[in-house]
Amino acid sequence: MTFRLAASHARGKFANDKIFGASSLAGQAMKLYGREKVVNATIGAFMDEQEVLGCIPTVETVLRNLPINEMISYAPIAGLPGYLQAAAGLTFADSRPEAYIEAVATAGGTGVIHHTIWNYSEIGDTVITSDWHWGPYAQLCQEALRKLATFALFDENQNFNISAFAAKVAEILKQQDNLIIIMNAPAHNPTGYSLTDPEWEQVVTVCKEQALNTAKRIVLLADIAYLDFAGDKNASRTFLKKFGGLPSNILTVLAFSMSKGYTMYGQRTGAMIGVSSDREAIREFTAINQFTSRATWSNINRGAMSVLAAIYEDKTILAQVEQERRAFYQLIRNRADIFIREAQAAGLDILPYRAGFFLTVPAHDPDTVCAKLYDDLIYAVPLARGVRIAVCAVPSAKITGMAAKIAKAVAAS
Ligand code: PLP
Repeated sequence: MTFRLAASHARGKFANDKIFGASSLAGQAMKLYGREKVVNATIGAFMDEQEVLGCIPTVETVLRNLPINEMISYAPIAGLPGYLQAAAGLTFADSRPEAYIEAVATAGGTGVIHHTIWNYSEIGDTVITSDWHWGPYAQLCQEALRKLATFALFDENQNFNISAFAAKVAEILKQQDNLIIIMNAPAHNPTGYSLTDPEWEQVVTVCKEQALNTAKRIVLLADIAYLDFAGDKNASRTFLKKFGGLPSNILTVLAFSMSKGYTMYGQRTGAMIGVSSDREAIREFTAINQFTSRATWSNINRGAMSVLAAIYEDKTILAQVEQERRAFYQLIRNRADIFIREAQAAGLDILPYRAGFFLTVPAHDPDTVCAKLYDDLIYAVPLARGVRIAVCAVPSAKITGMAAKIAKAVAAS
C-alpha cells in the first residue's frame, strides 16, 4: 500500500482479518442458498441450536433491570470496586493463590493484553506465545512496536512441548531483560487445548529458573478468555494456585473477560488481575495500568461492570448464571464430541481438543481446504497451518457429517 500522510510507524498497517472475510462469504452463501443449507463455522461466539446468538438469560435480566443512570454514568478509571472484587472472586473461586492481588478494569481481554505489552516490555522487545495462537496477539505487538516470537505448542506426540517453551524463554531472555509470555489456557483458541496442572507446574518452574537471575523480569500473561467454558468450575481453576509464592521478579497477569463467560462480547468489559508476592509490584501494577487506561480509553462500560457486580453479590443469581452457562457449555461439548467421533471414523487428524469454542484440523494448505469446503457450503477459518472450526457456533445437526467432508477436502488439497 502506498502511503500518504501516515507516520513512519503506521505505514502499511492493514486490518486484513481472515475471520471476518470467511464469515462474510458464509453470509453471502446463506442469502443465495438459504440459511439451513450453509454451515458457518467461522463465528467466535456461542450460537444456540437455532443459530441465534446465545445470551445467558439471567445476564440479560440483570442488564435490563439496571437503572438508566447506572448505564450512562462515567465509572472510575480503575473500574467499579464491586466489579473488581467480582472479577477476581469469579476468576479464582476456590483457587485463590497466596499472593498480593489487585485488578484494574480494561476494555475486554484485549485491553489486558494491550496494557501488559505496553507497560511490561520495552519498545522493540520480543513477546512470546505458542505457534498456534489467537491472531490479534501479533497485531497487538506490532501496534505497540514490539515483536512476537513463538514456540511449538505441541511435540511430535501432541503433548505440551515444555522443551520448546523452555528453549524459547531462555533464548529471548539472553537478548532482553523483560519478557512477556502469553499463555492462552484453558480451552485455547484455536485448538481447544488446556494445559494440565503438571504442565502449568513445568511452565512456572521454567519461569522460576530464569528468575534466579534477578536482572530479569518475567510477566506470565494467562489469557483466560475461555475459562468459563473449560469444564468443571473448580477443576479448571486449580492451576491458578500455582501463581502464589513466586519470586518478586515474576508477575502473573490474568486476562479476565466478560465476552464469552457472560456472553457480553460487544460490551467490551474485562479486567487485568495482577498476582505477585511483592506488595510494591502490585502497587505499581495498579498505578501504571490505571494511567494507561486514562491515556487510552479513559473509563470502561459502567453498565456491564454493574451487571457483574450484581451477579457476584447475589448467590442465587450467580448460581442461576452458572447453571444457564453450563447448558451452553454442554451444547458445545456435544458438538465437539460429534465432530471428534466422526473425525476418528473418517481418519481426520485434529489437534488435541479438551474444551472451548474452537477445534483445529491441521492442514498443509488451509486456504485450499477452506476453498474446497465452499462446494459443501461449509465456511471455516484458514489459519497458517490448519483450519479452525467454531464448534461454539454450529448446531449439532449441522456438525453431523462435517468431519467426513473436511477429511475429503484435506485429502484433495
Ligand atoms: N483472547 C482470546 C484467545 C480470544 O479468543 C479473545 C476473543 O476472541 C480475547 C482474548 C479477547 O476477547 P475480548 O477482548 O472480547 O474480551
